[in-house]
Amino acid sequence: MESLAGIWVTVYIGLGSNLADPIGQIMSARTAITQIDRVRELAFSSLYHSAPMGPQDQPDYVNAVMSITTDLLPIDLLRCLQGIENDQGRIRKEQRWGARTLDLDMLLYGMQCIELPDLKVPHPGLAERAFVLYPLSEISPHLQVPGKGNIADLLASCPTNELKKV
Ligand code: ADP
Ligand code: MG
Repeated sequence: MESLAGIWVTVYIGLGSNLADPIGQIMSARTAITQIDRVRELAFSSLYHSAPMGPQDQPDYVNAVMSITTDLLPIDLLRCLQGIENDQGRIRKEQRWGARTLDLDMLLYGMQCIELPDLKVPHPGLAERAFVLYPLSEISPHLQVPGKGNIADLLASCPTNELKKV
């Protein structure tokens, strides 16, 4: 990886899986992320079960959030995360929100707001998704989400949607 931001930033990553041993998928993804050159793990949340968004004819999800520190540029980190999704057998389908072996979303990259064709940060939907907000607040209870306010307030207005710790 050649292009570096030069500064180590804290990045939050959302992990999700609902196929082919979801807990195993999440744990392998954690290992793979910590093995990316220029990435260090800071924290990893509990695992949570959540009901699927969109099409309901698919298994429940397992979700977690991890924080890392890195000096990779956002787009380079995204490519690494997509490489891990592909390595773990994700087939991209036409339908959004369909079942998947692994989904890795860049939730936050420091305090930056990013609007690139392939990368929106903070991740759109972060503020409305219980399966993101609960694990995120578990590892970072005082987090400020750029443009959205603090995590405690976001959490207070987000229904749990039957989210359960594994
Ligand atoms: P979702 O995560 O909303 O269920 P996908 O994982 O299929 O949907 O979406 C992947 C697309 O989202 C990729 O093409 C990627 O470029 C884009 N994308 C935009 N912002 C982000 C982000 N913050 N993290 C991960 N992917 C993102
Ligand atoms: Mg995704």
